[in-house]
Amino acid sequence: MALRFKNSFTRTKEEFRPIDEGKVRMYTCGPTVYNYAHIGNFRTYMFEDLLRRYLKYKGYDVTQVMNLTDIDDKTIRDSQKEGVSLKEFTDRYTKAFFEDIDSLGIERAEYYPPATEHIPEMVVLIQKLVENGLAYEVDGNYYFRISAFKDYGKLAHIDMDGLKAGARVAADEYEKDSVSDFALWKAWDEADGDVYWETELGKGRPGWHIECSAMSMKYLGETFDIHTGGVDNMFPHHENEIAQSEGATGKKFVNFWMHSEYLIVEGRRMSKSAGNFYTLRDLMEKGFSGVAVRYLLLSTHYRQQLNFTLTGLDAARKALERYLDFISNLADYVGGVSSGGEAEQVIRKVKSGFEDALDDDLNISGAMGVIYDFIRDINRLKAEDRLSIEERDQALETIRKIDTVLNFTYNEANLDIDEEIDSLIAQRTEARKNKDFALADKIRDDLIARGIILEDTAQGVKWKRKV
Ligand code: AMP
Ligand code: ZN
Repeated sequence: MALRFKNSFTRTKEEFRPIDEGKVRMYTCGPTVYNYAHIGNFRTYMFEDLLRRYLKYKGYDVTQVMNLTDIDDKTIRDSQKEGVSLKEFTDRYTKAFFEDIDSLGIERAEYYPPATEHIPEMVVLIQKLVENGLAYEVDGNYYFRISAFKDYGKLAHIDMDGLKAGARVAADEYEKDSVSDFALWKAWDEADGDVYWETELGKGRPGWHIECSAMSMKYLGETFDIHTGGVDNMFPHHENEIAQSEGATGKKFVNFWMHSEYLIVEGRRMSKSAGNFYTLRDLMEKGFSGVAVRYLLLSTHYRQQLNFTLTGLDAARKALERYLDFISNLADYVGGVSSGGEAEQVIRKVKSGFEDALDDDLNISGAMGVIYDFIRDINRLKAEDRLSIEERDQALETIRKIDTVLNFTYNEANLDIDEEIDSLIAQRTEARKNKDFALADKIRDDLIARGIILEDTAQGVKWKRKV
């Protein structure tokens, strides 16, 4: 089956074809680095990780750009409140962002351009819009004139006729029912303090929307394959990006628009302003691992709302444990007789089922269902001792290939403390032999405190990481 995505622009599922064969260029709106990201934000970045990893699984060479918004109303306001420079303030949260995506096993994009390092590109773009009659200046501020851009509203499906256009907003975000000319450049005022650039547009700073047009086109070209974000980005942010980019180049900006649904808490969108948020750090303090949060965020289809509860996270952790135990037990399995073709059939079924599901607009729930069938079937063959070593190896290879997309095993892979653990396990075995059970228990408890669980099996002591 061909790879298909629901395109928010056309509201239909379309077959995905990149502009250049074998290559995908995609832009994903990134964080405003004014605080720790919450897991609602990470839901969107997790969807993008799945998209990226699946495209790579399909053999595409992916170039992904994610911007870092290190200048806007919020970063200025909060850095001033703390009395530190904008750079010192945003560097702190940029660093935290990268730590968090590493904890979540989110693969790094090829580019993370910060807005403050692309002011000249934004100025050139604004000048081009003025030249094309789409932007105008009032007291050193530059605005986009939406009435002059005939396609405004096409992405968010806004009927411009019934709306009173022409009002201006300086703020970066606004509502659908008051469609407004929006700020491309804001003249310096006292509230900005020492945050400004002296440019051909005057002394000031860019609005929020212009950065994504300038940086996406710089790294990906004037027309590229995929642009993503959360549903809240669709309007006005992405609508404005289209207006700015197409208004400047006269070319189609993006072929596929994809938007992920919200993570919600008790019926409300998780957000900083509502105060109903958890950061990844909050959850880790409660004893959950990054990979358990990854499982939870990844395993609901991106176009469905995900209702977050701690009970749900605990259930995700248990399901993850089952998956991880399956892989580690399979690796330890010494093999029985051949299944006479049954294993091969089970393997073929999981491969095609996994791909059919993800080809269908990243249907992850379908894909997970197929994987749990596979786990059940292979476990049954194992229990009947009807899985040869060759068949076991093929099953392992298959699940490992699938795991390049799911990435649920990265905790184990990243362990660089194996030797130390092995030596502690040897000390514990020695202590037990000497009947020093107090020492043996202490070693086990110390390891548990570090998130390492020991299991005494017929093949000796095994350990695994708590998830
Ligand atoms: P922001 O830092 O507010 O610009 O948000 C960064 C990203 O997180 C954007 O792509 C938003 O669409 C996304 N986002 C914010 N809140 C949520 C939520 N509750 N669920 C899913 N995505 C969200
Ligand atoms: Zn953006």
